[in-house]
Amino acid sequence: SPALLPGGHDAHARARAKRDVDKPANLPDPPAVIVDPASGVVYHRHELLGTGGFARVYRVTNDHGDEFALKVTAAVSVPRPKDVLKVQNERVVHRKLHHPNVVQYLGHFDGEGHYYLLLELCHGRSLYDLLRRRKQLNEIETRHFIDQLVLALEYLHSMRIVHRDLKLANLFMDRNLRLKVGDFGLAAELANPIQRKRTVCGTLNYIAPEVLEDAKGHSFEVDIYGVGVIMYTLLVGRPPFASPDRNVIRENIMKNRYQFPPDFPKDAQDLITQLLHLDPESRPSLADIRAHPFMSMTPVLNRMPETVWATPTVVP
Ligand code: ADP
Repeated sequence: SPALLPGGHDAHARARAKRDVDKPANLPDPPAVIVDPASGVVYHRHELLGTGGFARVYRVTNDHGDEFALKVTAAVSVPRPKDVLKVQNERVVHRKLHHPNVVQYLGHFDGEGHYYLLLELCHGRSLYDLLRRRKQLNEIETRHFIDQLVLALEYLHSMRIVHRDLKLANLFMDRNLRLKVGDFGLAAELANPIQRKRTVCGTLNYIAPEVLEDAKGHSFEVDIYGVGVIMYTLLVGRPPFASPDRNVIRENIMKNRYQFPPDFPKDAQDLITQLLHLDPESRPSLADIRAHPFMSMTPVLNRMPETVWATPTVVP
C-alpha cells in the first residue's frame, strides 16, 4: 500500500492522486545499458523486480556478470522538491549502513532524467511475497524473522536512525532467507537521542498512533510498534487494524482497537500487546523483546529452510 508523504492527511490524498497519473509502471523504460558517470562502470538492465511509490527496481549485471538491484527513480515522477528530498534522504541515510540484516548500499549516481541507487540484490524477495504465498506463518518462522529484524533495529537505532516505514514489503531476504531491512526513503537520522520527529509519514496499516497524533512528536518507538504490526500480520495473516475504510483504520489505531483470533498463542499475544501499546514509553525496548518468553522459547532457527515458500517449517 502507498506510503504517506510528509505534510499530513490532505497531502497524502494529493500524493496518491498524483501517483495515479505518474505511476512508475507507466513511464518509458530506463536505458538498457546504464553507465555510472563517475566510475565508468556499465550496468546491463534485466527484468523488473518490483515497483514502489516512485521507483522501479531492476536486476542489473556489470561486465563481470555480478548481479545487483538498481532502484531507478525517473525525475519526471518526482517533480516536487520535497520528493527529490526523499530520494536524496534515502541516499544520505542508506550509504552509512553496513549490517548483515540491512540491504547493502553499493552506490548512487544520476543520469539522463533518472536517479539511480545501486543495492545488494535480494534473491529471496520480500516477506510480503512470502506471506501472500503462505497466508500465515507459524511461531517458529515468525520468531526467526522477528529475531533478525530486532538485530537490524539494534544496529539502526545505535546509529540514531529511525526507519519509520517498517512493513512486510520492505523486509527482503537473500538466497539463504536471511532478513534484510530495505527502503530508507522515510528514515530519519536523529541529531541526538532525545530529538523528536514531527513529519507524518509511514504506511497507514503500520503507522504508530503518536505519528498520527503529531502533537508530541515521535522517535525510535515507532519502529518498535512496527515490529508489533509485522509480528501480528505474520501470525494472523492480515494487519491488526485493517479495514476497507481508511478512516476506520485511523480510528482503530488511535483507540488501539484490534483482536486476536481464538486460541492465539499466549506468549505471542502478550508480546504483540506490549509492542502495540498506545503509549510509546510503555513499549518494550529491543532488549526487552529479546528477553520475552516468545523469543527465548527454543528453538530460534539460525537458517530458514527454502521449503518455507511451500510448507510450514517444522523443527526436526
Ligand atoms: P519504494 O521506496 O518506491 O517503495 P522499494 O525500495 O520498496 O521502493 O522497492 C520496490 C520493490 O522493488 C520492492 O517491493 C521489491 O519488490 C523490489 N526491490 C527493492 N529492492 C530490492 C532488492 N535490493 N533486491 C530485490 N528486489 C528489490
